[in-house]
Amino acid sequence: MTGASIRFLGGVREIGGNKILIEDGPDRILFDFGPSFSPRAEEYYVDYLQPRSTSRAKDLLEFDLIPRVPGLYSRAALGDGELAYREPEVHGIFVSHAHADHAGYLDLVDPAIPVHVGEGTRTLLDAIEKSTRMKYGEHPWTVFRDRTPVRVGGIEVVPFPVDHSIPFAYAFLVRTRSGTVAYTGDFRHHGPRASDTHAFFEAAAAEKVDALVIEGTRAGPDPRRNLSEAGVRSAVDRVLTERPELALACTYPRDIDRLRTLYEAAVSVDREFVVSVRTAHLLTEVAPRFPAGAIPVPGKATGLRVYARKKRVSYLWERPYLEEALPAEEVRAGGKHYLLALDLAHFPELIDLRPPKGSPFIHSMSEPFSEDDVDDRVMHNWLDHFGLDFHQMHASGHASGPELLEIVGATGARAVYPIHTEHPEAFSKAGPTVRSPELDVPYPIGR
Ligand SMILES: [Zn+2]
Ligand SMILES: [Zn+2]
Repeated sequence: MTGASIRFLGGVREIGGNKILIEDGPDRILFDFGPSFSPRAEEYYVDYLQPRSTSRAKDLLEFDLIPRVPGLYSRAALGDGELAYREPEVHGIFVSHAHADHAGYLDLVDPAIPVHVGEGTRTLLDAIEKSTRMKYGEHPWTVFRDRTPVRVGGIEVVPFPVDHSIPFAYAFLVRTRSGTVAYTGDFRHHGPRASDTHAFFEAAAAEKVDALVIEGTRAGPDPRRNLSEAGVRSAVDRVLTERPELALACTYPRDIDRLRTLYEAAVSVDREFVVSVRTAHLLTEVAPRFPAGAIPVPGKATGLRVYARKKRVSYLWERPYLEEALPAEEVRAGGKHYLLALDLAHFPELIDLRPPKGSPFIHSMSEPFSEDDVDDRVMHNWLDHFGLDFHQMHASGHASGPELLEIVGATGARAVYPIHTEHPEAFSKAGPTVRSPELDVPYPIGR
């Protein structure tokens, strides 16, 4: 029998979209399954033009936007497309964390294939499904625990928590019959749970892994400014103390660490932190997964309020948060008493909020990845129109280029595969063990 192999079906020379297939004799498991953030993904489908819900996999396969894997997709998603339905030939999918580029295509998967996620990720996916249009499909969900091995046939998978810009992110050690693979998922070295990340790489080094599959979002040229989470806190503190007006901030909707940072900064200067109904729902749902009191919960935490956007209809899940919610008029009148988290999609609220000229807008997200980013241009048009002061203050969810090279050296894997990066070549500085993987090529493990 030939030995185990690893194959990259996505995440190759692109950020996001990891789809890693590990095959060992009759056993086949997949790690992560979501769309990439590369421009190619938007060549055919954009906001207003999406695959049909009656045949999503068929419509994505038309442009090779998902891999042609037999025995993976559901009968419904394939529709009457040319890739015919087959009984499952993939025996499990492990999801490293709840970001869309790792979990966003799960709804295409055959409902008979087990999906393995961390307990907290399950909670997050549920909360996201309830409060957005995102769907993950029906599956036999299996919840794994930190550092507790899961067996799928002859393969053993050990999930390790790592620090990232969403809680409950995991890396994995994958033990096959012919060798061990360490897969990092997305991770950082500088966040509040950095010790988890360090512990994973120590375990990978101790295991003398044959292959290291490592994300490289920030490998190569990285002109984007980045702070640590503590650095974001002091930068936000400065703005909130110096500015006498309403302060606005935008951040990633699932970056719980950042929401905590903004909340704590606001409360420390006697401002109230005002969040969207969706964020209120998310905080409420994830709080039980954290130590008591760690997460501010609407209705319980002092200084946390909910913003009432003008809407014609409200969903059932929104209603409990709306009773005490603040309308635009109140936020406008209260001005400097508030730090309001406002998504780009909700910018029309500015028309009612009318913050005084010079009011601070804290952009607590990554700077755009391309020069001609449309969203970025639109955001700046709005900020200019209202005369708001732009402040860039962000801590990345990813390790820096120098950190990545250091990790590769310290882990000492016999083969290193950089993925989730536009610059795999930047890893070559780490030595001859680095191989820039090609799409859909099987690489033997342990030989
Ligand atoms: Zn990612
Ligand atoms: Zn991520």
